[in-house]
Amino acid sequence: MSDSPVWHPFTQHGLGEDIPLIARGQGALLHGADGRTWIDAISSWWVTTHGHAHPRIMAAIREQADRLDQIIFAGWTHEPAETLARGLTEIMPEALTRVFFSDSGSTAVEVALKMALGYFHNRKEPRQGIIVMEHSYHGDTIGAMSVGARGVFNRPYAPLLFDVTSIPFPATGAEQATLDALEAACKAGAAAFIVEPLVLGAGGMLFYPPHVLAEMASICARHGVLFIADEVMTGWGRTGSLLACEQAGVVPDIMCLSKGLTGGAVPLAVTMAREDIFMAHWSQDRADCFFHSSSYTANPIACAAAVANLSIWRDEPVQARIVGLAAMQASELTAIASHPKVESTRQCGTIAAFDLAADTSGYLSNWAVHLNAFGKAHGVLIRPLGNTVYVMPPYCITAEQLSHVYAVVRDGLERKT
Ligand SMILES: *Cc1c(COP(=O)(O)O)cnc(C)c1O
Repeated sequence: MSDSPVWHPFTQHGLGEDIPLIARGQGALLHGADGRTWIDAISSWWVTTHGHAHPRIMAAIREQADRLDQIIFAGWTHEPAETLARGLTEIMPEALTRVFFSDSGSTAVEVALKMALGYFHNRKEPRQGIIVMEHSYHGDTIGAMSVGARGVFNRPYAPLLFDVTSIPFPATGAEQATLDALEAACKAGAAAFIVEPLVLGAGGMLFYPPHVLAEMASICARHGVLFIADEVMTGWGRTGSLLACEQAGVVPDIMCLSKGLTGGAVPLAVTMAREDIFMAHWSQDRADCFFHSSSYTANPIACAAAVANLSIWRDEPVQARIVGLAAMQASELTAIASHPKVESTRQCGTIAAFDLAADTSGYLSNWAVHLNAFGKAHGVLIRPLGNTVYVMPPYCITAEQLSHVYAVVRDGLERKT
């Protein structure tokens, strides 16, 4: 047993897995304190977009740290938050005029749900229900778990979770059932529908097409149900476009962003909202204000990192890197598709995924444990979701590095037993 006092997230310490000590990161590479290196094939859990330690983001953090570390954000403001909010309203859909800061994807989701209920409460419309999609994931706080799939991850906490209406995942050929269920749930008078656009990440890298996203948004609009897009993972180019919603021509009423917001360097999140949702909280009565805050809301150093991320999107050929990575992923996927253990290869922008012929199924499948350990031992950070292997690297990964990732996965499939 290790003598470290650290209790790691989503880690079964009883299995005695190797827990490498990382000293340095650069681009798509992680350097261990013991001299080993790993290619980061999952962007350190989907956050690192431009690569580790991007010089402009690191410089922005250093410069801001010399000026202002932290300031209460209720009734006070600072330049990095103002610049960031303005920058976001410029590149995000025009209708999303308001930017509320928080610290993680989970809190961005909590904020979105509270905005939706606050909106209807302040308008004196009795709407409360939340509609969610089967297999979805929105984070690990109590509210975020409540709107996500129920399963082995949250069974012990079930008594704390609130009830929601779940509609089926729009599997190929079964899209109409999803739309019908959404229509029925909307008619019953829900407040909001929260969904991951185009890609359900933690639910197993499940993809559905833009036209289904567009139809879901228009059903919500028809019934006055707020459409909340959780772009925490899909945002910042992952699906090929800046936002996944763009591909469906959908403008959400409320949108959550985090992970790639700072390029993956430091924690920060925003929930963006339509003007009338803000205005529903605007009055002379303090009881109508939006009651949410955390100590570090809009931390200046985190905001400075996000401002640097915006300038990278503006000045560097990020879109070209994304197109290049998508093409490399496509050819790697084509090559691995013929492997006898590989099924259902699929791709959405920079994200590639496939399933492995199951021994056991679900998140606790031993494929995940085996490939995670095999990757660690062979220079690749990869973390399958049960029987689903996915590769979601930083956009700066080279063709050689990406090929090495797939070669290690292939070897891992052979040396399973
Ligand atoms: C990761 C994720 C979250 C939660 O974000 P955290 O920063 O881990 O709290 C929420 N929604 C989606 C779609 C995610 O992928």
